[in-house]
Amino acid sequence: MRKTHLPFALPTIGEEDIDEVVDVLRSGWITTGARTATFERDFASFLGAPTALAVSSCTAALHLGLVVGGVREGDAVVTTPMTFCSTVHAIEQAGARPVLGDVDPETLTLDPLRVEQAVRQSGPVAAVVPVHLYGHPVDVDSLEEIAAARDFTIVDDAAHALPASFKGRRIGSGSSRVPTLTAFSFYATKSMTTGEGGMLTGPTELVDRARILSLHGMSRDSWNRYGEGGAWRYEVVERGFKYNMSDLQAALGIHQLRRLPALHERRRAIVRRYQQAFTAVPDALERPVERVGVEHAWHIYALQLRPEWFSWYEPRDPSIVRDRFIEELARRKIGTSVHFIPIHLHPYYRDRYGWKPGDFPNAFHAYERLVSLPLFPAMSDGDADDVIGAVMDVIEAYRR
Ligand SMILES: *Cc1c(COP(=O)(O)O)cnc(C)c1O
Repeated sequence: MRKTHLPFALPTIGEEDIDEVVDVLRSGWITTGARTATFERDFASFLGAPTALAVSSCTAALHLGLVVGGVREGDAVVTTPMTFCSTVHAIEQAGARPVLGDVDPETLTLDPLRVEQAVRQSGPVAAVVPVHLYGHPVDVDSLEEIAAARDFTIVDDAAHALPASFKGRRIGSGSSRVPTLTAFSFYATKSMTTGEGGMLTGPTELVDRARILSLHGMSRDSWNRYGEGGAWRYEVVERGFKYNMSDLQAALGIHQLRRLPALHERRRAIVRRYQQAFTAVPDALERPVERVGVEHAWHIYALQLRPEWFSWYEPRDPSIVRDRFIEELARRKIGTSVHFIPIHLHPYYRDRYGWKPGDFPNAFHAYERLVSLPLFPAMSDGDADDVIGAVMDVIEAYRR
């Protein structure tokens, strides 16, 4: 058994990252400036996106994406119950009404058939917000087909999907069929970090408007009004937000992005170890899938337990097994988490829209059985083996 606790996730910060941030601190320019511009160009070119806008969070990017994607007060926007709350907060903050569609039981991503159904039931839909959950892309082809036929925008929540692709197309690189905006997160535990931060990619004319909205709705290049050659005069052309990224954050981002392929490769190596080990216990748990034709970002490694295997099993409430499993891993010094408590179970959304647990059965059923294991690039093979050992130990010790 391990002597020290293995955290569920840790950021990977190198000396280079630290030096770059210190340079910014000494430079006299710490807010949005030249480094932010460089980070945006590097990020757009990494993905092959037309344009990128660095912002303060993925939540901010989602909000801006919905606004410039044409969502208006009172519109319906379809998304998934299996996500972090901020996906749905952004929809409400854009003035829209969230409509949930259940998930595909295997990938737990938004099921395009449910989108079709939601669109039929809720009248005109302005946008759909697919979440590439855990880093596994949604079925982009089917979603684009529906969006093109019904004329709505796609605003991707790609908080987990860096780097991910669907049939060779990078998530966030845009679409020739449907107006598509994509929001990324650089929160501390995501596949790369700027401490806090986010990025919006999409068609240039839409992202240009998001740029203005991201800084108080002030006309172009106002960020430089204190710089050399900057003009004091500015005009407010819209009621904007305060969503800009600082050069301190961008300095981290520039370096993290350069290391992203290596960080991603390390995640894949740990996942291969997990996947291989857990093939031995198919009756106790279901492993996450990677469908043919997709590149999975492997931000999160989530198992689904088969509760009937365990001695704790009570048919009334299968989630008891999940809860005990987490406790037993914690006793073995392994940090875990659950992604996610479905949106329709949170009191705010449950009460506001009258949602019941069984309204989205696939999401609810998965939630009762989900456990996410530690997955971060700084983990050693030995750490991964400790996780595997602890999981196997619990499976054996509490077999029914
Ligand atoms: C982390 C996360 C977000 C929010 O990202 P922030 O950068 O913290 O705003 C949104 N959606 C999902 C699915 C996430 O995991």
